[in-house]
Amino acid sequence: MWKRAELFTKLSGQAVRCEICQRRCRISAGEWGYCVTRFNRRGVLYSTIYGDVAVWRKAPIEIKPVYHYLPGSHAFSVGSLGCNFLCPGCQNWDISFARMEGVEVNTEYISPPELVRLARKFSCEGVSWTYNEPTLWFEYTLDGAKLAKAAGLYTNYVTNGYLTIQALDLIAPYLDIFRVEIKAFNESTYRRIANITRWQGILEITERAKHTWKMHV
Ligand code: SF4
Repeated sequence: MWKRAELFTKLSGQAVRCEICQRRCRISAGEWGYCVTRFNRRGVLYSTIYGDVAVWRKAPIEIKPVYHYLPGSHAFSVGSLGCNFLCPGCQNWDISFARMEGVEVNTEYISPPELVRLARKFSCEGVSWTYNEPTLWFEYTLDGAKLAKAAGLYTNYVTNGYLTIQALDLIAPYLDIFRVEIKAFNESTYRRIANITRWQGILEITERAKHTWKMHV
């Protein structure tokens, strides 16, 4: 479902700049961002996958994989469509690359309250946004994380860590775990798999999650 994006800057001529991930796409009216999940409709940026769940299941926290945070617990795990990287060997390529490849994938709408209700119904101690990059449906993860925390559930982001400081600071008060996948410690690998150059931004976000926001990293 479409929802007005949380973080974007209006530019001249109805263009916008998305401020969710560090690509900071400049998107003209009528165009998509790099991830093909965000669309500029007449000068307003929209997330087009709000609540559109492609995968959900109850999963042990260890297969997220997260260790040393409530071992033996379960997370109600959900994922949607799209990614802002293009890693060869992605194990969730069928949903992560679906938008970029123009492939139709069935999704079902699960509202944030329903997400929390399902987590409780299946006796999960937490909620995990996983399978595809969670920042792409940032607005949904933010609404869901607020409700999950209010319901006493833990919250887990399984991410490539390429979000902006603005996005991190907005959702961080409602996140317990920042399960970041750092693909490499060099520019050439990140350029090859993700077409990005300033990969150090991922480390800066990860340090901020740990030291400023005290998340389990
Ligand atoms: S979230 Fe998508 S549209 Fe926004 S900056 Fe990242 S790749 Fe671009």
